[in-house]
Amino acid sequence: MKNKIFFSLLIVSLATTFSSFHHKPVPKRQKTGIKTIIVDAGHGGRAIGAKGKYSYEKNVCLAIALKLGKMIEAEMPGVKVVYTRTTDVFVDNRYRAEMANEHKGDLYLAIHANSVRPLEHRKVVGYKKEVYYTGTGKKKKKHTRSVPKYKTYYSENPAYGTETYIWAADRTESKGEFVSERMSEDETDSTEYRPDLNDPEFKAKSLLWTKRFFDKSLMLANMVEEEFVKGGRHSRGVKQRNNEGIWILQATAMPSILIETGFVSNRKDEDYLNNKKGQEELASQVLKAIKRYKASFEKN
Ligand SMILES: [Zn+2]
Repeated sequence: MKNKIFFSLLIVSLATTFSSFHHKPVPKRQKTGIKTIIVDAGHGGRAIGAKGKYSYEKNVCLAIALKLGKMIEAEMPGVKVVYTRTTDVFVDNRYRAEMANEHKGDLYLAIHANSVRPLEHRKVVGYKKEVYYTGTGKKKKKHTRSVPKYKTYYSENPAYGTETYIWAADRTESKGEFVSERMSEDETDSTEYRPDLNDPEFKAKSLLWTKRFFDKSLMLANMVEEEFVKGGRHSRGVKQRNNEGIWILQATAMPSILIETGFVSNRKDEDYLNNKKGQEELASQVLKAIKRYKASFEKN
């Protein structure tokens, strides 16, 4: 009897398995939901990032990223966190982007810390005699004059506070290529048909997605900076930048931002960034921004 029940259960489960093969539900692209967040701690391993008086950017990034990831997991049920690194290892930027795209992230957050060169000053520390000549040939005359002697010294650059980056609007085309690629893969998953990347309709759709990603990134970046201000930090605002470190924002086919959490070159910021309480505050401010961002879609 027991065997019979087992056998019929087996048949039922096999039948379900087979039927699910035949009627594979077509996965729909989730348009506004946030299921997967990529948390990317900048630098790592031999890439130490910016250097403070006593700390490296790579360690600050990792500490904040891990705290943020844990908070997302604890407070946003149903949201999966994917880390690009959880230890002090070198990670290639291309790999970070590939990872984000392969995991079909709905949001990409890069955590970094800033630094600036110290300010350079010159002061007169004395005078020295300098020889110079006037005229040529027989009229040539030798003179001496006294010129100031300088000493160069440096002082701390007062730059401090947070800033959040989105990719520059003039890089939309580049971002669009990554978005097209991902969209094409998504469609391949669901219909086993690879769309023609040059098809004008597909191109228009991909451009539309890219623009939406830009708007979403800008919105989230503003929210992050607003939360920092509410938390008492000095915000340098939302910025667009085109240098190498920002390439990753173009290469990730999803809304993406890069958060500069403070300046390790500034004494107060460096202390704050290396302090557990500071790291937790930063992570919880970013979390608040993500929750607001998510809620704004759920309202609509
Ligand atoms: Zn960095």
